[in-house]
Amino acid sequence: MKTMTCKMLGGACDEEFHAATFEEIADLSKRHGMRMLQKGDQMHLDAMNKMRALMENPEDMNQWLEGKRKEFDALSESS
Ligand SMILES: [Zn+2]
Repeated sequence: MKTMTCKMLGGACDEEFHAATFEEIADLSKRHGMRMLQKGDQMHLDAMNKMRALMENPEDMNQWLEGKRKEFDALSESS
């Protein structure tokens, strides 16, 4: 298992996610983001708006995702 925080994944807080694959951790962070948005959390709202701007350009989005995937791959495993 590897650990990344909400912030590391384009979010706004220090909540930690644990997963074995990048896909899994991206999904966890997405679900956490949605929950925070439902609560009306302003910090996550701002982070989401930034991500939305990024998503408008698929090439930028892909680059961002690849960068995060490399970051994830470079992490050391923790049990
Ligand atoms: Zn968060």
